[in-house]
Amino acid sequence: MQTQVSQIHFDTLIIGSGLAGLTLALNLAQSRRIGLVTKQALLDGASGWAQGGIAAVLSEEDSPETHIRDTLAAGAGLCNEAVTRYVVENGPRAIQWLITQGVPFTRDHGSETGYHLMREGGHSVRRVIHAADTTGQAVQRTLSEKARTHPNITVLEHHVAIDLITGAKLVHPGRNGNRCYGAYVLDSAAGKVNTIAAHNTVLATGGAGKVYLYTTNPDTATGDGIAMGWRAGCRVANMEFVQFHPTCLYHPHAKSFLISEAVRGEGGLLKLPDGSRFMLQHDARAELAPRDIVARAIDFEMKKRGLDCVYLDISHKPANFLREHFPNIYSRCLEFGIDITRQPIPVVPAAHYTCGGIVTGWDGKTDLENLYAIGETAHTGLHGANRLASNSLLECLVFGQAAAEDITSQPSAPPAELLQWDESRVTNADEEVVISHNWDELRRFMWSYVGIVRTSKRLQRAQHRIKLLHEEINEYYANFRVTSDLLELRNLVDTADLIVQSAMLRHESRGLHYSRDYPELLPEARDTVLKR
Ligand SMILES: Cc1cc2nc3c(=O)[nH]c(=O)nc-3n(C[C@H](O)[C@H](O)[C@H](O)COP(=O)(O)OP(=O)(O)OC[C@H]3O[C@@H](n4cnc5c(N)ncnc54)[C@H](O)[C@@H]3O)c2cc1C
Repeated sequence: MQTQVSQIHFDTLIIGSGLAGLTLALNLAQSRRIGLVTKQALLDGASGWAQGGIAAVLSEEDSPETHIRDTLAAGAGLCNEAVTRYVVENGPRAIQWLITQGVPFTRDHGSETGYHLMREGGHSVRRVIHAADTTGQAVQRTLSEKARTHPNITVLEHHVAIDLITGAKLVHPGRNGNRCYGAYVLDSAAGKVNTIAAHNTVLATGGAGKVYLYTTNPDTATGDGIAMGWRAGCRVANMEFVQFHPTCLYHPHAKSFLISEAVRGEGGLLKLPDGSRFMLQHDARAELAPRDIVARAIDFEMKKRGLDCVYLDISHKPANFLREHFPNIYSRCLEFGIDITRQPIPVVPAAHYTCGGIVTGWDGKTDLENLYAIGETAHTGLHGANRLASNSLLECLVFGQAAAEDITSQPSAPPAELLQWDESRVTNADEEVVISHNWDELRRFMWSYVGIVRTSKRLQRAQHRIKLLHEEINEYYANFRVTSDLLELRNLVDTADLIVQSAMLRHESRGLHYSRDYPELLPEARDTVLKR
C-alpha cells in the first residue's frame, strides 16, 4: 500500500442508485455533500424494473393492523413484529413524499384516496399504489432527474465499489478499526481505482439474483453490498431465504423476462413437453397455488425428467383477449418467435428476491460505525422467511428516510487520510476466460444444488465447489488488475457461500427454504445469523 496524496471526499458516500439510494440521497442533500456511485447508468437496477407497485395503508378500508398481519403471515414466523409495525406506520408518509416529488401514480378520481390501488397475492385488501404496470420506471425517472440536477449530489456512473475502507487502511492507524471511512471504487470507463473518503458510507446495492442461472433480476444484482459488508466484518442474516418467481421466459436470448402471474390467473396451464398438465399432482389449487408451491412443483418436474423448461399455455383463450390483456408479454414473446395466441410459452422458475442481507437496526445502521445498509442489501427483519409482494419498495423508502434522519442528526467530520489503492504488484489479466467460465459454473451449480428444493448432499456439493472457486478467484484477484467482471464474480462467490452456509444451518423447512432432509417446521422460529 502507498500513501494517498489526494483522495475524493464527500460527507456521505452512497453506493447504489436504486430506490433506496435515491431516497436517501434526496432526503439528505439539503445538509450534506453526497457522492452517489453506481456501477452502470443511474437508472439501472431492480427498482426500475418493478412492475406491480408499492404497498402502503392508504385507504379507509385498510388499517396498519391488517397490513402488519398480512406481512407476518407471509414471513412464516420470522418477521420482526416491531420493525414491521415501524415500516407499515411510516408507509403513508413515504408514499406522500413520492407524490410530492412528482411521481405520476395512476389516478382513480372516484376513489376516496384519488389513486388507484391494486390488490396482490397475500394482501387482504387493495393497498398497492402503482403507475400503470411500470411503477419502478416512473419512480426512478422522477427521482433520478432530481438527483442529477441537485447541486449537493455528485453522480458517478459506471463506478464500481470494490471494498469498504476500515481502520486497517488508515495512513495513521490507531483510530477506530471497527469503523468505515469510505470505499475503493473502480472507475470502469477510465480503468482506474479511486479512493473515496466519507464520514458516512451507505450500502444500497440491491439483491443477489445473479447468483442463480435463472433470475428476474438485472445484471447489477450480484450481491456486491452484502459481500462487501461481510468482508468488512458485518453480520449477515437469513441468506437462505431466496424468493423464486415461478415463471420466467426460457429463451437463450431473453434475459430475465418475467411472465406475470396474471397469465395463470387468466387460465394459463402449466404443461410438460408432451402437453400433459402436472400441477394437480402437486396441489389441489393447481396453477393457482401460491408462488412458492408452483415454483417448487416446476422445479420437481424439471429435475425428475431432466427438462430444461416446462410450458405455460394460454393459447386456448381468444387471440384478441390475449393481445388486449397481455400486450407486453405478447409482443416480447413474439420478438423471440413465440406467438402466445398459438403456442405455449417455455418457462422456468427464476430467483427474484433476496430476503436476507446485512443486519441493520431501525435507522439502517450496521455493525460497523458510520456504515449503513438499506434496501434489498439489508436485513431489517421486515420480510422474515418470505417477502410479501410490494413490501420491498416500501422498505427502500422507509429505511432510506430513516437513515437520512439518523445521518442528519450527527455532526459531520473531516475525512480521515486513507491509504491509496496499490496496483504495483499486479498486471493485466492474461486469460479472461477464467472469469467467464467461473461465472457460468457458479450460477449453474447454485441453480442445481441450492435452488428451490435443497438437500444436505446438494448443499455439501455446492460448498465444495465454492471453496475451489474461492481459491482460484483470490489468486486471480491478488495477481491481476481488477475489472468489473472480476469484482462481480468475487462478490457472487462470497454471496453464494453465505447462502449455502445459511441453508446448511437451517434444519427445517420454513417459508422459502425447503429441504428434503428436513421437511418439518420447527416449533421455534429463529434467524440464521452469520458472523465472520
Ligand atoms: C422484475 C422485478 C419486478 C419487481 N416488482 C416489484 C414490485 O412491484 N414491488 C416491489 O415492492 N418490489 C418489486 N421488486 C423488488 C424490488 O424492485 C427491489 O427489491 C428493489 O427495487 C431494490 O431496490 P434497491 O434500491 O435496494 O436496489 P436496486 O434498485 O437493485 O439498486 C441497486 C443499485 O446499486 C448499484 N450497485 C450494485 N453494486 C454496486 C457496486 N459494487 N458499486 C456501485 N454500485 C453498485 C446498482 O447499479 C443499482 O444502481 C421487483 C423486482 C424485480 C427484479
